[in-house]
Amino acid sequence: MPAGEVFAALRTSPRGLAPADAAALLAGVGPNELPAARRRGRWRELAGQFTDLFAVVLLVASAITFLAYGLQDPRDAGTLQLAVAILCVVVLNAAIGFAQEYSAERTAESLQAMVRHTCRVLRDGERREVPSREVVPGDVVVLEAGDAVPADCRLVEAHEVSVNNAALTGESDAVGRTAHPVAAGPVLQARNCAFMGTDVVAGSAKAVVFATGTATEFGRIFRLTAAAPGRRTPLQRQVAVMARRVAGTALAIGALLFLVRLPTGQPFVETFVFALGVMVALVPEGLPATLSVSLAIGVRRMARRHALVKRLLAVEALGSTTVVCTDKTGTLTRAEMTVVRVWAGGTEHAVTGVGYAPDGEVADPEPVRALLRAAALCCDARLVPPPDGAGWRVLGDTTEGALLVAAAKAGLDPAAEEAAAPRVAEHPFDSGRKLMSTVHRETGGYRVYVKGAPQELLDRCVAADRAGERRPLTDALRAEAVAANDAMASRGLRVLAVARRSAPGPRPGRETAESELTLLGLVGMTDPPRPEVSDAVAACRRARIRIVMVTGDHPLTAEAVARRVGIVTGPAPAVVTGAAFEALDDAGLDALLDRPEELLLCRVSPEDKMRVVGALHRRGEVVAVTGDGANDAPALKHADIGVAMGASGTDVAREAALMVLLDDSFASIAAAVRLGRSVYQNIRKFLIYLFSHNIAELVPILAATFAGFPLVPISAVQILAIDLGSDVLPALALGAEPPEPDVMDRPPRSRKEQLFSRAVMGRILFLGGIQAAGVTAVFFWHIHASGIPYSRFTEDDTVYREGITMVQAGIVVSQFFNALAVRTERQSLFSAGPLSNPWLLAAGCSGVAVMAAISYLPPLQALFNTAPLAPGDWAVLAGLGVLLLAAEELRKAWLRRRGRTDRKGGTR
Ligand code: ATP
Repeated sequence: MPAGEVFAALRTSPRGLAPADAAALLAGVGPNELPAARRRGRWRELAGQFTDLFAVVLLVASAITFLAYGLQDPRDAGTLQLAVAILCVVVLNAAIGFAQEYSAERTAESLQAMVRHTCRVLRDGERREVPSREVVPGDVVVLEAGDAVPADCRLVEAHEVSVNNAALTGESDAVGRTAHPVAAGPVLQARNCAFMGTDVVAGSAKAVVFATGTATEFGRIFRLTAAAPGRRTPLQRQVAVMARRVAGTALAIGALLFLVRLPTGQPFVETFVFALGVMVALVPEGLPATLSVSLAIGVRRMARRHALVKRLLAVEALGSTTVVCTDKTGTLTRAEMTVVRVWAGGTEHAVTGVGYAPDGEVADPEPVRALLRAAALCCDARLVPPPDGAGWRVLGDTTEGALLVAAAKAGLDPAAEEAAAPRVAEHPFDSGRKLMSTVHRETGGYRVYVKGAPQELLDRCVAADRAGERRPLTDALRAEAVAANDAMASRGLRVLAVARRSAPGPRPGRETAESELTLLGLVGMTDPPRPEVSDAVAACRRARIRIVMVTGDHPLTAEAVARRVGIVTGPAPAVVTGAAFEALDDAGLDALLDRPEELLLCRVSPEDKMRVVGALHRRGEVVAVTGDGANDAPALKHADIGVAMGASGTDVAREAALMVLLDDSFASIAAAVRLGRSVYQNIRKFLIYLFSHNIAELVPILAATFAGFPLVPISAVQILAIDLGSDVLPALALGAEPPEPDVMDRPPRSRKEQLFSRAVMGRILFLGGIQAAGVTAVFFWHIHASGIPYSRFTEDDTVYREGITMVQAGIVVSQFFNALAVRTERQSLFSAGPLSNPWLLAAGCSGVAVMAAISYLPPLQALFNTAPLAPGDWAVLAGLGVLLLAAEELRKAWLRRRGRTDRKGGTR
C-alpha cells in the first residue's frame, strides 16, 4: 500500500494518534509486551540442587551410614544420628542454594526493570517519549540509529535507514529499509516493515505501528525465556575446583584413617563410620551458598551506586579492571550543552543564559542569524517547555537542543522556519562521518544545511559566507576558521561548524548535498564537567587504573576537559586523532599504548575504539569500555566490561553491555570497581575463615589416632554443628563486609592471580595451625589431668564428654576471633575498628550461644554427647582465641614493616 492508505487502514494520520485514542486503544488491545515464558519448574530447580557434587558425595555418605547402622550389632544410636545429620546437611544446603538462586533471579528481574524501555511517538503531531509497553497500533513511531524497534511497523518516511533483523531471521547483516510500497509476499520479507525485537542500525525513519505485543512476528516465534541461569564465572569455577580438591583430600584422609585404625582391633563398622565422619568434616559444606550470597550482595550494592551489572561475572572482572576507556560527553561531562559563542563573519559573538530555557541574548544577532537558522533547521531534537514551572527539557540530542536554544535567543522560531522551508530529506548524523545534513525546499529549488565537526565540514567547504556574501574559501580564510575553532576548543568548548549549499537542479543525494559547501560559521558550547568525576578520577589513579579518553570531539576540547577532571595532569599528554590512529599498524598501536603519558584518542570512530580494546587485550589488560551509540556495540561486547549509558545511551548499546550506568557518570564506574574489588576481598576473607577451621577439626583426630587414643576428640555430628551451625552466619557477615578503606589504594590484582594464592594458603595454614594446636592441647591436657589410662575411656565417660565439648567449644570460640582476624589483610584490626562490622560480632556471638546451648541443655547434651563446661574452661578457650588474634596482629605488623622497607629500598 502507499503510505496514505496505510494511515487510513490503521485509522491514524501522519500526526499520529490523539492521546485519548491511544489510551482507549491501549485499554482495548493490551500492553505492548510479551508474557514471560514459564521458567524452569520450581521443583526441577530444587531437584537440581541435589545433583551438585557436594550433595552427591554427602548423599552417598549418608546412605552408607544408614547401611552401616543396619549392619551394626548392637545398633549404635550415634551412627543413626550421623546418617540423619548428613541428610539434614544436604537438605539444608539445597534449601539455602535454592533460596539463593530464587533471590538472584528476582534481583536480575528487578534490575532489568530499572532500565528504561521507552520510544518516541507522535501524538497529535507532537513528539513524545512513552514507555514501549504503551505503544498501540496506529501510533507513529520515530526511529533513529540505535533504537530498538518497539513493535511491528510499516515505514512511512525513511532516511537511509537500515535495520538488523538478527533476532528474527538470524541474519546479522544490516538490511536497508524503504518507505515505498513493495510487492506482496511474506510480511517478514517486506522491505518497508520493521519488526519488534530488531534494531535500527543506521539512519532514521517514521513508521506506523500495525501490530503490538503477542500479535507481532516476534511475539509469535519467541517465548520470552527467563534470565538465563548465567554461566559460571571464573571465580565460581576456581572455587568449584578447590572444593573438588578438598573433597578428594577428604576422601583420601578418610580412607587412610580407616586403614590405620582397622588393625587396632576396633570393629569394622565403627571404624568405617569414624572415617566417614572425618570425610564429612573436611568438606566445606557452607561454601557454595556463602559464595553466591556474597556475589549477590555485591550486585545489589552496585545497583545502589547506579551501576547495574547484568551477570555476576562482571562483579569480579570489575575488581581486576586495569584500564578504563571512557568517552567524554555525558560520562565525564554533564551533557548539558549551552551555546556561549558564535563565530561568524570573522568575529566572535557572545551568547548569554544557561540551560535550555531560551532566556538570554546573542550579542549583535544580525550577522549570526543565518548561521543559527541553518543550524536549527538541521536539527532533529525538540525543546519541551516546562509543564509546571520545572526546567525546559530537550527531547533528543542535547547538542542540537543547545542550537535550538541559541536560535531562539537570536529571535528565531525554529518551527516557523521549518514550515517556511520544509525538510524533504535528511542524512542523519553518524559518529563516523561526524556530520549531518538536511535538504529543504525553498524558493528557487533545494537548499542543504549541514552541521558537524569543524574539521570534517571544512574539508567539504569551497566558500565562506561574509556578511551575506559568498567568498571562495582561500587558505587565509580557512586558516582563520581553524584558528577560531582552536581558540574555542582550547577553552573546553564543543565546537560545531555550520554550512549550506543551494541545489537548483533535482533533489541532491548525500554526496552532492554534503559537498561544495559554503561555511556559515562556528558555534561553541560549554558542557561543564560533572562535579563528582574529579574525585573518581583521582581514586582510579590511586588504584593504578589507567584512564584513556576516547572521544569523537576535537583534541583541544578533549584536552581541556581532561585537564579539568584530572585525567591529564602532565604537561604533554599523548594526543592522537582519528586519522593518525588509523595510520598506525598493530606494532605502532602497541608502541603508543606503551608510552607512559596520559593518552587521549580524539576524533575517533567506533571502529577505532574496537581496535584499542583489541590492542589492550593483547597486552593482558582487563578493559572496561564505555559506549552509547549503536556502533559502539562491537567494542562493548569485546571488552571485559562493556559499560553502557542507561539514561542517554541507545538500546543497542545497553543490550551489548555487561553493565549499565543509570546515571551515565564516570564516578559510577569507579564506585563499581571499588565494590568489585571488595567483593573479591570478602570472598577471600570467608574462604580463609572456613578452610582454616577444617584444620582445627582434622588435627585433633589425627593426633588421637596416632597417639593411640581409642575415641575421637570431636565427633562428626559436632563438626557438622560447627560447619552448618555456628560458622554460617559469620561467613555470611564476612561476605557482606563493607569495602576496606584502602581498596582503591592498591594496584589491580593480576589477572593470573588465583583465588587460593600462596598468601591465602599460608594464612589458612597459619590460622588453622594455631587453632589446631590449641584445641589438641586442650583435649589431651584434660584427658591427662584425669589420670585415667587411654584404653579405659568409653564414649559415656564424663571426662571424655567434657574433653570433646572443650574441643568443639574451642573451635567455636577461636572462630569468633578468627572472623575478626581475617577482616583485614595487613591493616591492624584495632585501626580498622574491631566493632565496625556489628553483624559479624552478632553472628559470632550467636555461634557461641549455640555452643553454650549444646554444652548445657540436656536434650542437646544427649544428641552431641557433650557435658557442661566450667567457667574456667571458657576462660581457657577465650585465652586461646586471644592468642590467635595476637599472633595475627604480629604477623600483620611484620607485613606492614616489610612493605615499608620494600618501598623505601625499591626503585621507583
Ligand atoms: P564522546 O564520544 O566523548 O561522547 P562526542 O559526543 O563528541 O564524544 P560524537 O558524538 O561522535 O562524539 O561526536 C563527534 C563530533 O561530531 C562532535 O565533536 C561534534 O563536532 C559533531 N557532532 C556531534 N553531534 C552532532 C550532531 N547532532 N550533528 C552534527 N554534528 C554533531
